[in-house]
Amino acid sequence: MTTETIETIEDFETFADLGLSENILKALTEMGFTKPSPIQAQGIPAVMLGSDVIGQAQTGTGKTAAFGIPVLERIDVTNNAVQALILCPTRELAVQVSEEIGRLAKFQRGLKIEAIYGGDSIDRQIRSLKKGVHIVVGTPGRVMDHMQRRTLKFDEVRMMVLDEADEMLDMGFREDIESILADMPEDRQTILFSATMSKPIMSITKRFLNDPVLIKVVRNELTNVNIEQVCFEVKPQAKVEVMTRLIDMYHLKSLLVFCNTKRKVDEIVEELQLRGYASEGIHGDLRQQQRSNVMSKFKAGVTTILVATDVAARGIDVSGLDGVINYDIPLDEEYYVHRIGRTGRAGMSGKAFSLVARDEKFRLKTIENYTKVKIEKGVIPSYEDIVGVRKARFVESISASIQEGDTDLYQDVLEMLRHSGFTTEQIVAALAKQIMGVQKNEYADTNLAWEERRGGEGRREGGSDRFERRSSGGSTGGRFERGSRDGGSREGDRRGPSSDRFASRERTGSSESRAPREPRERDGEAKRTAAPEAGMTRLFLSLGRKDHIMPRDIVGAIAGEANIPGKTIGAIDIYDKFTFVDVPERDARTVLRAMDGNTIKGKAVQIDIAK
Ligand code: ADP
Ligand code: MG
Repeated sequence: MTTETIETIEDFETFADLGLSENILKALTEMGFTKPSPIQAQGIPAVMLGSDVIGQAQTGTGKTAAFGIPVLERIDVTNNAVQALILCPTRELAVQVSEEIGRLAKFQRGLKIEAIYGGDSIDRQIRSLKKGVHIVVGTPGRVMDHMQRRTLKFDEVRMMVLDEADEMLDMGFREDIESILADMPEDRQTILFSATMSKPIMSITKRFLNDPVLIKVVRNELTNVNIEQVCFEVKPQAKVEVMTRLIDMYHLKSLLVFCNTKRKVDEIVEELQLRGYASEGIHGDLRQQQRSNVMSKFKAGVTTILVATDVAARGIDVSGLDGVINYDIPLDEEYYVHRIGRTGRAGMSGKAFSLVARDEKFRLKTIENYTKVKIEKGVIPSYEDIVGVRKARFVESISASIQEGDTDLYQDVLEMLRHSGFTTEQIVAALAKQIMGVQKNEYADTNLAWEERRGGEGRREGGSDRFERRSSGGSTGGRFERGSRDGGSREGDRRGPSSDRFASRERTGSSESRAPREPRERDGEAKRTAAPEAGMTRLFLSLGRKDHIMPRDIVGAIAGEANIPGKTIGAIDIYDKFTFVDVPERDARTVLRAMDGNTIKGKAVQIDIAK
């Protein structure tokens, strides 16, 4: 349990000042809650007065107790009927909320709470409900189900709570919520909590809430000094690489990665898993059961990286994270605040890293203006840095193992290897290499960030970098042995070990290796007439040396525009006024279509199949 997690803006009164009963105060002390959070300090009195209440506060600000305490204060334990109904968007939240209220009710003898949600046996729930329950915490679908079966009676409900209302609406529960609300006794009290106030929420409150009091606490996390906010200017293709470097460098062991779309979630998870990082994704397309699995693995620390969309992450209760990474910059400033609010709790400092592509720069500016915080620009850790930290950690963990003892069983391993003719130094070095998972530097440090100066060329430049795939022998993140590798379906895997990465770079003539591709007009004619390699088609481009184009401009433009991997592009011969370039036969049409009438370095180009 986290205590002191709530940032108070000013000094709020104590829980005792709020006029709570002894039982609750005792429970709060046991739970380690010393001070009400802002939403509690303002919300509890309002709800206790009996008015309808709309509470808006971010995740992790203590909304559960803000409604849970007044609910408990109003329950008559001698009446064996449901007196409060709390709706939550998901099973995890329903369980979580019922557990938290259970803790608050520890000293209220005889009080019964039941969580009801889909995926659990309805018969078991029915039996439980029959015994008499005072508070029901449920998901809208399952509550509807019970209403229709008449296994839940609401005639004596006095309080109705919509928790995380925005997420319930996002998940499509609007109709269920409306019919549940319509079925509640007229004279009940209705309380709605939400992290954001959207139009649909406003319309629900208009229809179903009676002269509500609005309590809004949104300021606190904006000024959270515990969160170290840093941005990194990264080429889009290099984001995963940079992310893993940051994870290694800062030793982030529990981490939430945010991105804007569901598809990205899946992509990132796959990339991270391929590199040996224990990561899973969570988004709206997952079934309840899958969501729960993902969440419990993350909470247990089996998965260390959770990748999520904003909507999916909103309801889940994860706090005290080492860090949050904004894989992309959110489209809404408030999302940014929500995202980074997941870290830096309980007096620990958290890291909030944002990976900013060139075209996201302005969005970051908007966020800075909104939060009034300058987001500092970070330096991407170099390959050397990463190897350095891994070495240090390796040494640390080996020393720890030795101190733990129990290594007798393994002592003859060294002897066995020595007999095979290796020196101790060689053996240790090989072990270190294997365990640390660092083998080859797949990514040139200079190829990760975009640079401010380059203006219009940028997009094309991007195309020339080969981050699309990585070979199987690459950095595995050093966490654990990679399991099955997707049947080697990625081209990167088929290409074999990373040792040929640099060789391939040469063939495609990126910036470091221009030489082999420099025009050779004198001896070139002979080559010109030679046919292209099998499977390749030779294309003619109407630009040449007089246009100051270089092989990398061409690779960049073709790879970028036709969306084919730069490394599949073959020989390039640049002449004064024109250029020949070989592309895979199957891509020739695509390249012609993509490039015709297009520009390279701002110059219009004509492209055709070479005669
Ligand atoms: P929300 O619903 O706003 O996302 P929760 O009610 O789930 O937030 O609370 C987040 C965490 O903070 C929980 O672990 C909860 O036990 C803890 N918490 C709530 N109120 C307090 C408080 N006044 N003091 C310390 N911890 C609190
Ligand atoms: Mg909540």
